[in-house]
Amino acid sequence: MSMFDLQGKVAIVTGANTGLGQGIACGLAEYGAKVVCVGRSDMAETEKLLGNFKAEFLSVYADLSSTASIPGIIKKALEKFGRIDILCNNAGIIRREDAIDFSELDWDDVMNTNLKTAFFLSQAVAREFIKQGSKGKIVNVASLLSFQGGIRVPSYCASKSGLRGLTMALANEWGKFGININAIAPGYMVTNNTTALQNDPVRYGAIIERIPMGRWGTPDDIKGPAVFLSSRASDYVNGYTIAVDGGWLGR
Ligand code: NAD
Repeated sequence: MSMFDLQGKVAIVTGANTGLGQGIACGLAEYGAKVVCVGRSDMAETEKLLGNFKAEFLSVYADLSSTASIPGIIKKALEKFGRIDILCNNAGIIRREDAIDFSELDWDDVMNTNLKTAFFLSQAVAREFIKQGSKGKIVNVASLLSFQGGIRVPSYCASKSGLRGLTMALANEWGKFGININAIAPGYMVTNNTTALQNDPVRYGAIIERIPMGRWGTPDDIKGPAVFLSSRASDYVNGYTIAVDGGWLGR
């Protein structure tokens, strides 16, 4: 049996309708997981892709800007599949504005979705892992801005740096239960999140220039690291944030 095998495992992936979340949902399904796709947008495209792998899945509508949706997500996942083994906190938003003009709303919206809900969903899922008496995997989608400051994205940087810190903090507390909490820090990836940058020819070119691999990443590039951190192949990796950035951070 492959150490990356996810047969029989149930994975919750937030923001699975598009972009990196869709890539992660497909990667986990490809290795045998049943996927609970959580989000506030139409899941049809992801459902079609999951169907190609003959994967079992469930789509759950949830607005992750508040924690109110968390009990419903857990309930529906358990009703359908009876257990939870993997959580991927992928859903996230970004707001761009000069720090000097940045609004409280743009601060709160980003922190709530990217950090607060990720924490309380992790807590709810960890409680299930413990109740099940099983091991479990939590994979957070962080960012290069978990390591760097960025420009005009103060709440995004704070939320993703916070998520990296939270990854370590939870690993410290939950390792004893056999729960691994790790994160992936994607570099510049072609998704809706980066449309503004992709449409700016000067910045787009400058970014490629700085990436040692000479290209932006795609949702496909995230699949391997997500499968690794969700599988027993990573059983002794805990509290770590893996950059998947074509080498950007090494420059
Ligand atoms: P995306 O905008 O395509 O995906 C974001 C996902 O989050 C979508 O599915 C969206 O519906 C979901 N989402 C946002 N707010 C939500 C809410 N309130 N309730 C439910 N779902 C919500 O962009 P992406 O690049 O695929 O982003 C996925 C993750 O990767 C995000 O956390 C993002 O910060 C992170 N990331 C992306 C890049 C990149 O270059 N694209 C780089 C680093 C980190």
